[in-house]
Amino acid sequence: MKNRYLEADLIIVGGGSAGCLAAIRALELKPDLKVVIFEKGDIQYSGSIARGMDALNIVAIPNFTTPELYVEAVSMGCGGILDAPASYVMAKRSFELLKKLEGWGVYFPVDKAGQYRTLQYHAKGRFLTAMEEPNLKTMISRLALEKGAVAVNRVMGLELLMDSGRVAGVVGLNVRSGELVVCRANAVILAAGGTARFTLPNSGYLYGTFDYPGNTGDGYVMAYKAGASLTGMEFSRRTLLIKDANMPLLAITVTRGGRVMDIFDNIIMENECHSLSRMEEAFAQGRGPLRIKLSHLKPEVIEEIEHILFTTERPVQERFFKGRGVDFRKSDIELWPTECQLCGGHGMAGVVVNEKAETTVPGLYAAGDVAAVPKQHLTGAFVFGEVAAERAVEFIASNEPVKLDQDRIKAVEARCNRLADTSGREIDVRDFEYKVRRLIGDYVV
Ligand SMILES: Cc1cc2nc3c(=O)[nH]c(=O)nc-3n(C[C@H](O)[C@H](O)[C@H](O)COP(=O)(O)OP(=O)(O)OC[C@H]3O[C@@H](n4cnc5c(N)ncnc54)[C@H](O)[C@@H]3O)c2cc1C
Repeated sequence: MKNRYLEADLIIVGGGSAGCLAAIRALELKPDLKVVIFEKGDIQYSGSIARGMDALNIVAIPNFTTPELYVEAVSMGCGGILDAPASYVMAKRSFELLKKLEGWGVYFPVDKAGQYRTLQYHAKGRFLTAMEEPNLKTMISRLALEKGAVAVNRVMGLELLMDSGRVAGVVGLNVRSGELVVCRANAVILAAGGTARFTLPNSGYLYGTFDYPGNTGDGYVMAYKAGASLTGMEFSRRTLLIKDANMPLLAITVTRGGRVMDIFDNIIMENECHSLSRMEEAFAQGRGPLRIKLSHLKPEVIEEIEHILFTTERPVQERFFKGRGVDFRKSDIELWPTECQLCGGHGMAGVVVNEKAETTVPGLYAAGDVAAVPKQHLTGAFVFGEVAAERAVEFIASNEPVKLDQDRIKAVEARCNRLADTSGREIDVRDFEYKVRRLIGDYVV
């Protein structure tokens, strides 16, 4: 099969939260810029916010909280292991980001006095700001395309190309046809998310992971092979999630008064969400199964929780709980420890970046869960998507165009052909993945 060749000023690997915001920002700054996005899935629905989202977890609202207080709070959450400038820049730009999203039609509820709804998520300060937007992903992907970005769906970035020590483009693989897609570009933004499929989920379903299962750590590998520094890879992250469903609900329920209880009815967490290690401890001490109790809450609070859970993030939860006969007014929600993930969004692992989203390789930027800005969540993906685009646009304007390294392309091609030829080693790809993830779970994390 012949390779497909594309030309761009800027290529973005991953069309999720960070990738879409990067494309939008680059084209706001320079509408005639050629921006290509390699997206492994379909940009309309891919990534951690496949549908909607219920909160921007970090917003420093002026006259209410400060970026300085946020840095203090996140530093406590990371045991002090933090490059503060990036977290500071994110918090400083977070309110401007909220206003921009509002301008696009994203709904942030306010009370009668016009104050945004904030909840206690961090050890200090109320930074989590409620948002109700069931169509967030389709909105941002549509905006990126309307501004002129070219999304190449079903193409998985495999390897970065280099030219005289700087990045020069990406070789990708069409996961449906097997075609290699080569894109020459003067700057690259890695926005391929974290690693959802790292160990096995407790449910036993290979792809039933908390994070988007298309996120398989490819960004880390590409950066590493190109010589970029990585950090915090030992901080794999494991949480207790809804047993068998692995879906988000801890922040939504506990910040609204839900209680995490152990088997002896001791309250482990209530009204705050920063003591995840206490849950792990309780489970390890044999005080599990843990569960979330909501039945003590006022009916209108339970209704609010149901509304968020069943409409915004993963609407399938409604059917899941109904099928199990779980009514939050009477029954608790069972939690169970499940798969480990690697992630800069909720965790602390990833590609080393500074507050300008620059990696250690010239012309290469990283934003979102692939980048090591600890616990940056969606705010970080959006803010650093924008920051990376701003720096990339400057870099492109002040550097000569790059050349393609045909030898490298041939080497990638040869490797793909070798891996595609399974004769003599007919192991089902799912079996292979199962075994690798089991090994990681048993011996690595
Ligand atoms: C279930 C869940 C709930 C969350 N809730 C909240 C919340 O309420 N508030 C909050 O602030 N944060 C929340 N977060 C965190 C937040 O959503 C993420 O931090 C953020 O969306 C990450 O953005 P990203 O662009 O790095 O990754 P993603 O949005 O996941 O995008 C990565 C993209 O890269 C693509 N990709 C992967 N590999 C390749 C490759 N090799 N080539 C091409 N494309 C590739 C994927 O298909 C995907 O589209 C939540 C996360 C999850 C998983």
